Amino acid sequence: MKFCSNCGHSPLSFRCPEGDNFKRLICDNCQMIHYQNPKIVCGAIVLWENKVLLCRRAIEPRIGKWNLPAGYMENNETLKQAAEREVREEANAQITLQKLHTVFNILHVNQVYFLFLATLDEPVFSNGIETLETRLFDLKDIPWDDLAFHSNVFALQQYIKNPKAIDVHHADSLSFTRAPK
Ligand SMILES: [Zn+2]
Repeated sequence: MKFCSNCGHSPLSFRCPEGDNFKRLICDNCQMIHYQNPKIVCGAIVLWENKVLLCRRAIEPRIGKWNLPAGYMENNETLKQAAEREVREEANAQITLQKLHTVFNILHVNQVYFLFLATLDEPVFSNGIETLETRLFDLKDIPWDDLAFHSNVFALQQYIKNPKAIDVHHADSLSFTRAPK
């Protein structure tokens, strides 16, 4: 961020405001503090008859790689609404959410993934605008080497390990490394 979005002043200072514990971008002209916080990414492990729905990305980053349908949560929506919307947008599919399955912190890009377990309402899906290809994969045929994100690898590994697990799975980008298949 180079300019103050409130008054247009530049440059912004990076310093700790009085009474705060973190450095912030502060406008020395209008005194606005520009807080920056993690972004929430919502999506789902969408199942149909023991197969999982994956989308091949038509956009960067990781264009051409497969991922669970997921994307940034919007203002004025809930986690569940965001997950349902992302599946609608990326795969043109209607789902029923079962439960929250995975929370994955990606520290270096300040994102938190919330991935739900869900089922397709019917086996109908197609490519959304950000998707090159949409496909149901048998769990033993998941293209592990071509998955776009560690968050997806972790969530799918946990699901395969214990499909009936009740607890939410937590991990983060520092402690999780891709285990061999
Ligand atoms: Zn300003």
